[in-house]
Amino acid sequence: MTGRITKGVKDFFDVLVESGGEYKNKTVACNSKGVFRKDSIKLKPLVGDIADIEINQGQRDKAELWGIITGIHERKNTLIRPPLANMDVLFIVTSVKHPPPSYFFIDKLTVAAIENEITPVIIINKTDLDPSDDEIFNTYSKTGFRTIKTSAVVGTTGFDEIKDAMRGVVCAFAGASGAGKSSVLNRLFGSLDLDVGELSGKIERGRHTTRTVELFRHELGGYAADTPGFGALEFENDDKNNCILEENLILNFPDFEKYAAGCKYGGCTHIKEEGCGVIEAVASGEAAKSRHESYIAIYEALKIVNKKKKAGK
Ligand code: GDP
Ligand code: ZN
Repeated sequence: MTGRITKGVKDFFDVLVESGGEYKNKTVACNSKGVFRKDSIKLKPLVGDIADIEINQGQRDKAELWGIITGIHERKNTLIRPPLANMDVLFIVTSVKHPPPSYFFIDKLTVAAIENEITPVIIINKTDLDPSDDEIFNTYSKTGFRTIKTSAVVGTTGFDEIKDAMRGVVCAFAGASGAGKSSVLNRLFGSLDLDVGELSGKIERGRHTTRTVELFRHELGGYAADTPGFGALEFENDDKNNCILEENLILNFPDFEKYAAGCKYGGCTHIKEEGCGVIEAVASGEAAKSRHESYIAIYEALKIVNKKKKAGK
């Protein structure tokens, strides 16, 4: 029987059964059967994992449904902080002001998401504070990333679109502290019928207690991660042994790829070359200047890391 790990505390995990049969949609409290090895690497079950479980006959802890995790399915991606596996969609929440948006922070998150096969969706919140300010919206509309305007306090628009992006997938919310992640989540889940738990209550509790990650299945046939206190993300492949090569960075900027096809010289870094399609698109206003600035900053940072890595070998 297989299910999704929705919660983990030490060696105890909640697994929501997804496969058919009498246990379908039931949450089973599971122990993990020791260490999972793949290529002799220790593998600890993570929230978001798809797990094989065996249900135990008999009673334990007053007839609680319980079982043992016997295996973990291959992961699409692994987050170290917050600890979470198999994310499909990352909502990046920013505010138009208070706090001001950090384009660089957003772009770093989109690069990391794309590297890990996660679809970034940009949520521009607090639009009520300056309804005429479309700068950040225009910037991200140009990227091709889904870009959604909201106001978690007074508005009603955008929430259906967010829900649409949540359908049938595992998603999480990231963004600077104060941008309105909790407010957006509360708005979303205040009106949603959650299958498991009550998200709004959990968020409030999470802030005052330990930083644990939980997945909540919602009525749109997907899961949302409640990740209190995590503004940024750290992926397993963030370490310098396994990071993006600067010459491949353009692949993490899907908005630039089509312009890069028009570069005059092969091996163009798209930083300052003459006849660079990307630089021309930025100059004409077709591509976003701030995105290009982020590209250059990330490129230079990767260059240093990769050089050190080579020297270390
Ligand atoms: P988080 O740190 O990203 O989870 O941000 P919160 O959801 O805690 O929001 C931070 C502050 O911004 C709170 O005082 C919210 O009431 C306020 N806030 C959140 N969304 C909006 C919005 O759309 N408009 C306005 N004016 N304030 C908002
Ligand atoms: Zn170029």
